[in-house]
Amino acid sequence: MKVLTKDLKGAAEWPIEASRPALEFGLTGWDFSPVSIRGVAREAEGRVRVVLNIGTGVRLACSRCVTRVDRPLAMRLELDEPLPEQSLDLAPAIREELILAVPLYPLCREDCRGLCVTCGADLNEGPCACPKETRAESRWEALKWQIQKSDIPPRAGTRGARTGR
Ligand SMILES: [Zn+2]
Ligand SMILES: [Zn+2]
Repeated sequence: MKVLTKDLKGAAEWPIEASRPALEFGLTGWDFSPVSIRGVAREAEGRVRVVLNIGTGVRLACSRCVTRVDRPLAMRLELDEPLPEQSLDLAPAIREELILAVPLYPLCREDCRGLCVTCGADLNEGPCACPKETRAESRWEALKWQIQKSDIPPRAGTRGARTGR
């Protein structure tokens, strides 16, 4: 994503239009859609001004219930730099803009109820079967309940009766 200085000189406006994979901006940690970039670069008095509209989408997991969230992203980037000797690389500025646009705590919906800490049920689908005392109180409570549950051997009574015969 480079604008060549020789193209800018003498041109009233240099159009920029591209669609690039997010990997080209070094964005490996997220699942981005291809990034579309539209705008213009302009040279004036030894400086270059760039205005870009950037559009893409990112696939995230809801921070409460881990459901898939597809979030469209649109941003406007303005740069004003001294005219470089050879070319101006737009990729670092675009990359930074994209990273800042990713929501830190995405939600599938504003009132997402999240998962039950005890049984992991998605509480958006309705209340789980956990007794009220053990539900969503603390991690320790949830852990204690898990330990108690695993202490009970499954169908011990039935098996005992069979071998006794
Ligand atoms: Zn959610
Ligand atoms: Zn539960």
